[in-house]
Amino acid sequence: MIIQSFIPPRRTLMGPGPSDISPQVLQALSRPTVGHLDPSFIGMMDEVKALLKYAFQTENDFTIPISAPGSAGMEACFVNLIEPGDKVIVCRNGVFGERMRENVIRAGGIAEVVDDIWGEPVSIEKVEQAIKQHPDIKILAFVHAETSTGVRSDAESLGKLAKQHGILTIVDTVTSLGGITLKVDEWQLDAVYSGSQKCLSCTPGLAPVTFSPDAIEKIKSRQSQVRSWFLDQSLVLGYWSGEGKRSYHHTAPVNSLYALHESLLLLKNEGLEHAWRRHQDMHNLLRDGLEKLGFEFVVKADARLPQLNTVYVPEGVDEAKVRSHLLEQYNLEIGGGLGEFSGKAWRIGLMGYGARRENVSLCLKALEESLR
Ligand SMILES: *Cc1c(COP(=O)(O)O)cnc(C)c1O
Repeated sequence: MIIQSFIPPRRTLMGPGPSDISPQVLQALSRPTVGHLDPSFIGMMDEVKALLKYAFQTENDFTIPISAPGSAGMEACFVNLIEPGDKVIVCRNGVFGERMRENVIRAGGIAEVVDDIWGEPVSIEKVEQAIKQHPDIKILAFVHAETSTGVRSDAESLGKLAKQHGILTIVDTVTSLGGITLKVDEWQLDAVYSGSQKCLSCTPGLAPVTFSPDAIEKIKSRQSQVRSWFLDQSLVLGYWSGEGKRSYHHTAPVNSLYALHESLLLLKNEGLEHAWRRHQDMHNLLRDGLEKLGFEFVVKADARLPQLNTVYVPEGVDEAKVRSHLLEQYNLEIGGGLGEFSGKAWRIGLMGYGARRENVSLCLKALEESLR
């Protein structure tokens, strides 16, 4: 067998992530590699931190990308904030809420699960009740944008509710960052993680995180060591914020960070508010087209994510066959259903660079033709 260079097909990515990457970001990725302690690289790291603060709308000093995918951002928040025996309310209304519960258990915590129906947002009333029922709750964990169902939960109300009760929050913003309104400081969120490959439209494999002063306080007052060496943020801190000189922790994914820098710069130049509006506008366009084709949305209009559109597969249609057809005939990827929606729904992403008019048109045209 002769093995040759891998030349991937040119797809349009309209699934739940990774999303389409801007050519500018791909170019940045291929610039020459420098040493990860090179003075020029350290300057760029400082800019990445500043750009991430803007994207998260926070003044938190501890705002960095973790060198691993969104799932590692999730794990980092749980293993750093939870000490064995800590009680955590976990809101579960989809796949990622369930993963949060698993993280609590593995970090030695006790999970008090607040369940909501898949496709519906987290109920503030239920969370309030759970807080009253368990006065020893330390942390509230929830997903802002549940990618398995396409639902948005009210992170502002949940953040402020927790703060009123002296409870820390862990918030999954993997799909929300850059796509819908997110204001970490104003909403008083504590440990917030995201991913590079959804609405930031960067290469997969990086997890922006930000920790509030209250979250840092909790980490500093730990009685026990963080159970993960790689994700122990007190060790990572020396690498990302040593004044002047940085100490070696791990080798940063140098070129991936060039790409993140470029994608965050694109977001800054466009302006956050504009990016949020663009996602909404493109969603409206797609929604009108899908409804014309007879599609029904899983999520009711006021809790719908513009960047992740979940629609029921029409009666009698082989959903996997249609997705293969879209991939083969149109080089178009859309997502299948996850968990409870497996085989029953499609997830159509309009994330970051992918939230463009031509993508909406391609998707509508391809779906119409395929269903015929
Ligand atoms: C994609 C996603 C993750 C995981 O991110 P990876 O980069 O795949 O590890 C976590 N939470 C949510 C809500 C996501 O959509």
